[in-house]
Amino acid sequence: MQSTDTEFLIPSSVSEALENIAKEDAIFLGGGTSTALLYKTRLIEPSRVVWLGNVGELKGIFVSTTAVTISAMTTIAEISANRDIATLLPAVSVAAGAIGNARVRAMATLGGALAHADPRQDLPPAMIAVGAVVSVKSAAGSRDIPLAKFYEGFLETVLTPEELITAITIPLVREGTSSYIRYTPTSEGDYPTIGAAAAVTMAADGNTIETATAVLCGVGTVPIIAEEASRILEGTTGDDATLRRAANTVREIVDPQDDERGTAAYKREIAPVFAYRALKSCMQR
Ligand SMILES: Cc1cc2nc3c(=O)[nH]c(=O)nc-3n(C[C@H](O)[C@H](O)[C@H](O)COP(=O)(O)OP(=O)(O)OC[C@H]3O[C@@H](n4cnc5c(N)ncnc54)[C@H](O)[C@@H]3O)c2cc1C
Repeated sequence: MQSTDTEFLIPSSVSEALENIAKEDAIFLGGGTSTALLYKTRLIEPSRVVWLGNVGELKGIFVSTTAVTISAMTTIAEISANRDIATLLPAVSVAAGAIGNARVRAMATLGGALAHADPRQDLPPAMIAVGAVVSVKSAAGSRDIPLAKFYEGFLETVLTPEELITAITIPLVREGTSSYIRYTPTSEGDYPTIGAAAAVTMAADGNTIETATAVLCGVGTVPIIAEEASRILEGTTGDDATLRRAANTVREIVDPQDDERGTAAYKREIAPVFAYRALKSCMQR
């Protein structure tokens, strides 16, 4: 039998939330869209649930000339509807708008979308591509973690159980853009077979790539960062042949599994195609 005496606490500040989490098997709850499924299927049996929905400090999107900061309890729908994010960080905006359906997006939060760590999720590759840094707090202190170093495996991150994601910060670049594309063979609201995010910044001459990042989801146990592709592209003009050569390197680093959304062999074949299209889309803006 599932425990019937799970406590449900509703802190109203970050410090109260951090006090509340100090119990074995206690968990934070954002929008509850993933947690509810894990709880219902008895994959988790928390002793205490600490719902963050009443913590005002964890809400809001803040845009300055140098960075965009998104607080952890901002919903996916709010991210998807934000005009500054659509203009400054198209990959993030498109990925947020692609998640599940309107009901999921209305409830799901940024913190939950990052901490859940399902490798098919749309937002992590987009956020990694644009250089997001995760701010976390616990009773022991605070730390900032590049999202590129956040994922350890299927449903696993570097977070300890007591660590709370408070926000992510994305630096803004002067000459650059980003993109996100995905493919799903079933309903639009389903997880993707594959998703590809890219971000490209240009040098002051306007013709040479300064940095280029491509990140894939759905083809490994964590988001796959195409590091060799970055090395090939940086310092070039990003001509079509170089883009294709760079994108082809992902074939060797993906580690897809067979599932109802496609075979491993199929996913390995389309990974370079999606990496190329995401990068190309940045070069065409
Ligand atoms: C029908 C359906 C379709 C979906 N389709 C897609 C899809 O197409 N693409 C996609 O990317 N995702 C999809 N998802 C997954 C969805 O993105 C996640 O369920 C959602 O983002 C989780 O956010 P949440 O706030 O509801 O998290 P919760 O369920 O509240 O929490 C998830 C995890 O994060 C932890 N957590 C929450 N907030 C914090 C915090 N601030 N600090 C530390 N830990 C925290 C919780 O303890 C838990 O471990 C789908 C989900 C459903 C139910």
